[in-house]
Amino acid sequence: MIEIKNIVKKYGNIYAVNDISFKIDAGEVVGFLGPNGAGKSTTMNILTGYLSATSGSAKIDGVDILENPIKAKRRIGFLPEQPPLYLDMTVNEYLSFVCDLKHCSLNHKKHIDEICEVVGISDVRGRIIGHLSKGYRQRVGIAQALVGNPPVLIFDEPTVGLDPKQIIEVRSLIRSLGKKHTVILSTHILSEVKAACDRIIVIDKGKIVADELTKDIGRAVKGTRKFSAKICGDPKTVIKILKGIDGIVAVSDQGQSEDDSREYIIEADSSIDIKKPLFYALCDARMPLVGLSAAGENLEEIFISIIDGNENDRRDGNAADLQA
Ligand code: ADP
Ligand code: MG
Repeated sequence: MIEIKNIVKKYGNIYAVNDISFKIDAGEVVGFLGPNGAGKSTTMNILTGYLSATSGSAKIDGVDILENPIKAKRRIGFLPEQPPLYLDMTVNEYLSFVCDLKHCSLNHKKHIDEICEVVGISDVRGRIIGHLSKGYRQRVGIAQALVGNPPVLIFDEPTVGLDPKQIIEVRSLIRSLGKKHTVILSTHILSEVKAACDRIIVIDKGKIVADELTKDIGRAVKGTRKFSAKICGDPKTVIKILKGIDGIVAVSDQGQSEDDSREYIIEADSSIDIKKPLFYALCDARMPLVGLSAAGENLEEIFISIIDGNENDRRDGNAADLQA
């Protein structure tokens, strides 16, 4: 559905985007995650034909955005970082203006009725956009992206500046749009991709540093899983036993639990099941295991470890790069 190949965008000597490639299949909801300045907007603007790349190609449904911009753009609904709203128009006026602009072949009135229903703005259609709350304006921005019923929707930081309630509403709206459309959204907020996307592409300093299904991203990063274990007995001996078990790569003592056990965070190779060996080793030493649970690594930690990894690679590879 979407294919980006070796996209590079330079501003002077600075690479805003440095050799990015990915493919997105029809029906996927993909989160483009990265810190500010990572190159998310640049990539999205190139993908939607708003910006030309220094080199590389972007295709939507096999149509090259540079060679055939009108045909390619017809397949995309785009909500840029700054939504292109006319603040002195009413929602109705604005959406019919967008229908005209996009040469929408559907019945305009009926089409706008449907879109307003889907994005939940039917009750404010007669109001001036400039008088709407930020949350409603963002919905109007999403509504304009839906005009013409494009198969691909691209949203650049769709929840920036919204309050928590509006954020939840817009996320669930995006989720529901994902049932009928291929969706790419960019964000610097981890919980956002987790809440809305099946797949996460992490971008940092213009490069893709991870591309995984949301459910796999924790494991994929380091190839390890974390467990929290509650164990009774002398901590030094416990740690020695744990470290002797095949597959366990790190152990940290979290201190006394509420009962007479201590909690340990165990990091283990995700391809090895350590539970049984752990049980038997502690039985042999007569050190009761009174609790064992998965210590789900939070996305923040994963994100930082990916970004840090990227930092180290750069340091090893090309010190001059860092100066730029
Ligand atoms: P993001 O959307 O991830 O925050 P951007 O794609 O906006 O990042 O920016 C990527 C990098 O390119 C940043 O370092 C930014 O300063 C730089 N950049 C973006 N647009 C321009 C421009 N028009 N001129 C010069 N540098 C730019
Ligand atoms: Mg941006």
